[in-house]
Amino acid sequence: MKKKIRIIIEPGCISCGRCQDLAPAVFDIADRARVNADADIQAHEEAIKEAARQCPVQVIKVQEE
Ligand code: SF4
Repeated sequence: MKKKIRIIIEPGCISCGRCQDLAPAVFDIADRARVNADADIQAHEEAIKEAARQCPVQVIKVQEE
């Protein structure tokens, strides 16, 4: 069975918007990036992992549970 993932955004986000471009249903940017409370994270796993790879300050951590 596929593992569930969990997103952690560590301090240091520079609000560049990249994660929101890649996964707009998941990430919101205000003063910093946040995960939408009602986002279907499992459905957007690949886009989330890509956002984590492309985050310029590497603050998006994806954990598999
Ligand atoms: S890609 Fe990284 S730095 Fe840019 S808004 Fe998202 S979390 Fe912040």
